Amino acid sequence: MTKQTIITLPGDGIGPEVTSVAVAVLKRACKASGVEIETIAQPFGGTGYDLNGTPVTDETLELCKQHRFVLLGAVGGPKWDELSADKRPEAALLKLRKELGVYANLRPIKVYPELAAASTVKEEVIAGTDILIYRELTGGIYFGKPRESGEVDDDPYSLDTMRYSRSEVQRLARKAFEAARLRDGRVCSVDKANVLESSRLWRKSVIEVSEEYPDVELTHMLVDNCAMQLIRDPKQFDVMVTGNLFGDILSDEAAMLTGSIGMLPSASLGDGNGLYEPVHGSAPDIAGEGIANPLAAVASAALLCRHSLNLPNAADAIENAIKTVLKNGVRTADLYTGETGTVKAGTKEVEKALLDAIGEAVAA
Ligand code: NAD
Repeated sequence: MTKQTIITLPGDGIGPEVTSVAVAVLKRACKASGVEIETIAQPFGGTGYDLNGTPVTDETLELCKQHRFVLLGAVGGPKWDELSADKRPEAALLKLRKELGVYANLRPIKVYPELAAASTVKEEVIAGTDILIYRELTGGIYFGKPRESGEVDDDPYSLDTMRYSRSEVQRLARKAFEAARLRDGRVCSVDKANVLESSRLWRKSVIEVSEEYPDVELTHMLVDNCAMQLIRDPKQFDVMVTGNLFGDILSDEAAMLTGSIGMLPSASLGDGNGLYEPVHGSAPDIAGEGIANPLAAVASAALLCRHSLNLPNAADAIENAIKTVLKNGVRTADLYTGETGTVKAGTKEVEKALLDAIGEAVAA
């Protein structure tokens, strides 16, 4: 059996609770694909600060770079809110993303039929939605220079710069086209090319890449229209590719289609490296109670199998296990509405249900 090492950074609050479920499920699913997963856990975030006086040590960063694939829980909590910016748990997250060079942020937006009623958008509009958003993560207006504040004629001003280079756009676009090949074969590039110079370059650069992928259909959409179309008819999208600012806003809007933050996984990829984490935070209000929903962390482990380990069967097994658990009516408190045929379950009970579901799939 091949061996594969993964670094885990469970972090704070519910981070360790959901990460331990993700690791158990990952190990079981990969074993069935002939790969033995070995994990090295490192303190990170507030927990890291308590132990080492810094939210992330150089040793941890080195380990992450050496082993390339990282499964993260969540960081933060009121205990560390008063620390200076460089000591806060979030500083560890930004440093890690930068050190790993993960420029492509993936957010799958999948509506599970069993949970469609939990969304604020009408069930018939969202049922069947399955979108994969590729957001540029290390460029654009969040990083562009100059970035300054000043005053002219007694009138204060501030300035941010939206800058993109062709290579920045194209390395992300290639990832989106590759992903579309494994899905429905469609990429929608979102920009504001009717107004912004940087968007005109964005569009031109994406079109150039599309010539390498004649089997993938490329469309373009202006970001304002996209915000509307996501609510009007989300099923029209397959893969979406967009810049940092637009992706930040659109991915949060799209997340609301699914109804619960406890369900959303994410992956951040840079050539060769992969950082996988649930979208939710450390949920200090429920930490330690054993009631956290582990499905976003588990779905992040499925993304790890698909995008870094090249184990699509293991990814499918994990995603099918999530579907089975939901179909069987097993719900953590955040999803439980008292609906007939459902039961309220703790984090560990969900873990058992997931492992059973994978076990059955392997045996079949
Ligand atoms: P949060 O996502 O932690 O929690 C928001 C609400 O959703 C809470 O009521 C929480 O109980 C619930 N919730 C979240 N995840 C859940 C899960 N898996 N199962 C059940 N319920 C869940 O956001 P917040 O309260 O704004 O932030 C709490 C801390 O987390 C803060 O310190 C914040 O900075 C940090 N944070 C970290 C990350 C990260 O690590 N990537 C992301 C967001 C927030």
